[in-house]
Amino acid sequence: MTLASTTDALRAIPGLHFPDEPGYDEHRQAWNLLADQHPLAIAVPDTIDDAVRVVRAVTDAGLRIAPQASGHGAAAIDGDALRDAVLLRLHRLTGVEVDAENRSARVLGGTLWNEVIAAAAPHGLTALHGSAGDVSVTGYILGAGISFYGRTHGLATHRMSAVELITATGEVVRATADEHSDLFWALRGGGGNFGAVVAVEIDLLPIPDVQAGFLLWDIVAASDVIPAWRDWTRGLDRAATTALRLFRFPPLPELPPFLSGRSLVIIDGAILGDDALAAELLEPLRALRPEMDTFARIPAQALLEVHMDPPMPSAAVTDHLMFGDLTDAAVTALLDAAGPGAEAAPMVVELRHLGGALGDAQDSAVRCFDGEYALVAVQVVPVPEFAPQAVRLVDEVVETLRPWADCAPYLNFVDVPVGAEVGFDAETIERLRRVREMYDPNRVWVAAHALPDPAVAV
Ligand SMILES: Cc1cc2nc3c(=O)[nH]c(=O)nc-3n(C[C@H](O)[C@H](O)[C@H](O)COP(=O)(O)OP(=O)(O)OC[C@H]3O[C@@H](n4cnc5c(N)ncnc54)[C@H](O)[C@@H]3O)c2cc1C
Repeated sequence: MTLASTTDALRAIPGLHFPDEPGYDEHRQAWNLLADQHPLAIAVPDTIDDAVRVVRAVTDAGLRIAPQASGHGAAAIDGDALRDAVLLRLHRLTGVEVDAENRSARVLGGTLWNEVIAAAAPHGLTALHGSAGDVSVTGYILGAGISFYGRTHGLATHRMSAVELITATGEVVRATADEHSDLFWALRGGGGNFGAVVAVEIDLLPIPDVQAGFLLWDIVAASDVIPAWRDWTRGLDRAATTALRLFRFPPLPELPPFLSGRSLVIIDGAILGDDALAAELLEPLRALRPEMDTFARIPAQALLEVHMDPPMPSAAVTDHLMFGDLTDAAVTALLDAAGPGAEAAPMVVELRHLGGALGDAQDSAVRCFDGEYALVAVQVVPVPEFAPQAVRLVDEVVETLRPWADCAPYLNFVDVPVGAEVGFDAETIERLRRVREMYDPNRVWVAAHALPDPAVAV
């Protein structure tokens, strides 16, 4: 097909938005406002049938398709691949059916965690959501999914029991441990490389409430708090999953006074179990005399607010490293790069404590995380001219800490378009390729962290 006939074929598909039409700019906007997406056209289906029609028509026209839900991970898609593809925005394909008796839910492909947790809560149930309620269940769970219940209950993707997806030939298949089991293996951690997911079935957990909150200190306490938290996390009960963040907040009227204009160290997270266990586990951290301590028993749904992720789409530069351990030297390097004495540092430098059930291997593409600590550095970009400086701030911290990053990164935290080979060993990449060969031999799908093509022998 020539480019002109391809474009004509595309224009014949009803409901697509083209660059010269109203609606295109609105729909190409991802959650990460820095992601400047320029696809050939954009489809925004309301139903699974509409999505199937789009996939069939676009593949008949010989074009590629990039499924996307919220766009939290939009900076991880290769922009060049997107220019020749149709962006399949699934944010209108939302809905949750809770089966309280079987503690499970069927969640449509564009649904955000907020909606799922709100539907589960009246039944005394919740799920392995992440820190932000406006991340989509599908993008999060295809990548693995680290929750504040993670050290107790493992990766969210291992609590996904079925995936319904549109294949490259426009069929809807259901992948489970028993049906299309190779595909199911690949979807649990292998990302969006295999089709457009229109629904997932997930386990719900009988957790009506939880001990959760944060402990806050001025950043001058960081040289005591970071090593103490690191020591505390070693050998910690699996009931507790926490994160430690170094914050530098600008003075902003929309921030509460305890955050506005301040540099802080904050430990937050959740502890499953009774109040006595939570008190016992928190005691060594409370001994460091935090300025604020909000840990208390809260409804499980309120855990979505504890981490204070941005409440609306924002422009941000993010990067990530994974550590098997936080040695004294790594802690010193972190303090030098982002502690109280650092001249300039990103707005947020976060360490998530992993391990526990997150390190229990299962038969899936992701298996488990070897890393015990995930570092995420984030710099908000208030005006576009600030972007180069934001990149510099994030790079400086990440490059300073890189010598200690001895584990494969978690691709959902990697906000640049590196390929999937960065996150998986060679054997896993080979198996993922074999699954793609079965379901997508013509490379229809454009995904964040694309699976690389095999090297061509010369
Ligand atoms: C503020 C913030 C907080 C976060 N907190 C956590 C956290 O606590 N734990 C954690 O594990 N991660 C967290 N993340 C990372 C998050 O899991 C990833 O960014 C994830 O990719 C977002 O999925 P999404 O669908 O919302 O984003 P999108 O950008 O829409 O999707 C990312 C990719 O997933 C694939 N995809 C999405 N939907 C579909 C679909 N329906 N069919 C096929 N492929 C699809 C595509 O390849 C797409 O490019 C956070 C990110 C941000 C920005």
